[in-house]
Formats: sequence, structure tokens, C-alpha cells
Amino acid sequence: MKHTAHWIRHTHIFRSDEYECSACGEVCGKAKKTCPGCGAVMKGAKGDQGWVDEMEAIDAFFDD
Ligand SMILES: [Zn+2]
Repeated sequence: MKHTAHWIRHTHIFRSDEYECSACGEVCGKAKKTCPGCGAVMKGAKGDQGWVDEMEAIDAFFDD
């Protein structure tokens, strides 16, 4: 059965943007039509809402 998700865009100053699957957390260098990790059909990308900033904070926390 197909499911849907969207990309959570992570912007970085010194490297190119990454897109994270909202369903499985797979990270891609670009927003593809389907997630290579879980096969979800992507509805688009979000990048400028407040909750994405929260995700960025989590991302930074785990960054080396
Ligand atoms: Zn996925």
C-alpha cells in the first residue's frame, strides 16, 4: 500500500540543502518524488515553518 509523506528541508551554510523524509527520516541530497528509504510518495517540501526550526535544532544537536 502506498503512503505519503513530505520532505523536511534542512538548509546548511557550508554544504548543500538536505531533505529528510517525514515518515522514516531518510535524508536525501534533493527532494525526489518518492522516498528511497520507505517508498512514500512525497507531497512536497517544507522549510520555513516554526516546527522545522525545531527539527533543525535536533539536527544540530546530533551533528558532529
Ligand atoms: Zn521515507
